[in-house]
Amino acid sequence: MEPLPLSALNDFLYCERRAHLKFVDGLRGTNEHTLLGNLAHEAVDHPGYEHRAGWELLRALPLYSDTLGLTGKADLVEIRRADFHESEIANLKSDIPRIVEARPVEYKKGPARRWSNDQVQLCAQALCLEEMLGLRIEAGLIYHVASAKRDEVAFDSPLRSLTLATLDALRASLIRPNAPPALLKPQCDGCSLRGICLPEAASVRRAVLFEPRDYT
Ligand code: SF4
Repeated sequence: MEPLPLSALNDFLYCERRAHLKFVDGLRGTNEHTLLGNLAHEAVDHPGYEHRAGWELLRALPLYSDTLGLTGKADLVEIRRADFHESEIANLKSDIPRIVEARPVEYKKGPARRWSNDQVQLCAQALCLEEMLGLRIEAGLIYHVASAKRDEVAFDSPLRSLTLATLDALRASLIRPNAPPALLKPQCDGCSLRGICLPEAASVRRAVLFEPRDYT
């Protein structure tokens, strides 16, 4: 199974046509939102780690799931490791304590959006981490850079089901040769592919030739 990028889930829920234009046709675009998004990610663009308040913070962590066929990167993953106990040390094969808790953190430039795409992308990251670490992950966080607020996202059954259903629908969509037709909708306002997609053109009536009988 060809792995899909985690970010394709986000694009697909934003607009199916956008996902197809990006991941089948290879089109990319830039607008104020993509530029602000790049700035918002500067703090987590490069791999590294630090410790804060008992958590280990792993930046730009590569993620994968062989089971789901997903690959990508988490902006940040916060982990806790097991305490070292003298009695355990002798039995450890590694001198690195095992990870007992983890939560992905997704950086976003603006406030929460009306669509559930960010939550699904975060949940997909958690599913990858669960497979990589052999842990159950109950919740993650979306960090809104503009307000410096962190919103918790619970990975409950409905969100897990929506994430898996979205992945199935994404895979089915991307094997179709043609992108779905453009449809002007609220998402188009912030879409970096608008100048290529031209959704306004979809609402323009096609010109028709006059019928011969019109030439009387
Ligand atoms: S401009 Fe609108 S229809 Fe076109 S890809 Fe973007 S969101 Fe989709």
